[in-house]
Amino acid sequence: MKFEATITDIITRTSDIKSFRFNRPPGFEYKAGQYIFIKLKVNGNMVSKPFTISSSPTEKDHIEFTKKLTGHDFSNVLNSIKIGELVGIEGPYGKMTFEVEHERIALLCGGIGITPMISICRYCTDKHLNNKITLVSSNKTEKDIIFKDELELMQQQNDHLKVIHTLTQPTDEWGGCSGRICEEIIVNEIFDHKNCIFYICGSPLMVASMVSILHALMIPDQQINIENFTGY
Ligand SMILES: Cc1cc2nc3c(=O)[nH]c(=O)nc-3n(C[C@H](O)[C@H](O)[C@H](O)COP(=O)(O)OP(=O)(O)OC[C@H]3O[C@@H](n4cnc5c(N)ncnc54)[C@H](O)[C@@H]3O)c2cc1C
Repeated sequence: MKFEATITDIITRTSDIKSFRFNRPPGFEYKAGQYIFIKLKVNGNMVSKPFTISSSPTEKDHIEFTKKLTGHDFSNVLNSIKIGELVGIEGPYGKMTFEVEHERIALLCGGIGITPMISICRYCTDKHLNNKITLVSSNKTEKDIIFKDELELMQQQNDHLKVIHTLTQPTDEWGGCSGRICEEIIVNEIFDHKNCIFYICGSPLMVASMVSILHALMIPDQQINIENFTGY
């Protein structure tokens, strides 16, 4: 589906992450984990880039995508956009999706790679699904954790959701996991990890490193779904 949408809300998530919302047009159906292309005029040319839908298919009024602001041209145009302005949309696309098909899932993400995972968590929580979810999210510092408060609230609402944050640059006060997502975190924090279906999203380097850890743990490719965020 191709259409133009008016930006209805802009939400600052962290110092360099913003969510953008627009009204969900009639007939626009998508699955948690899918992405859309956002088309903007940049230096006189129409430029189109993929962004995962961070809202859940259960949210009928709006669609949300969430962008890491990089200071580059496309990012600057998006960052200066105002409520009421138009953007071009095309989609949805993507195969790293979740409906209810797997009883036990593990979501591994680095930084902005959380966008498909938040959609899946919102979807399962909104639908009161019994599927067991462990989200392991890696960030530099506590201030960089995207959707932190919402994830805390969701854990209170959804007994089947467990959220683990790990920080690569923690302060002395940080009481959680530290370092990148590693074999130890996967084995210790993800219940019955050998029988989980894994979803991985982040930079291509992060995704490749997670896949090799899972292979070392004898998790077969059939249990691994990936989305590479090229461009970082
Ligand atoms: C399926 C998919 C889903 C995605 N979902 C999301 C999402 O939900 N959220 C999100 O934030 N991103 C997402 N991305 C990434 C997104 O599409 C962009 O690639 C990303 O946001 C970077 O775009 P940009 O315009 O900010 O930076 P770009 O200008 O594209 O810069 C990307 C890289 O190119 C280099 N570069 C570009 N211009 C210069 C320059 N002038 N000087 C030096 N180096 C330069 C830099 O190394 C930079 O890191 C997704 C990507 C894919 C493939």
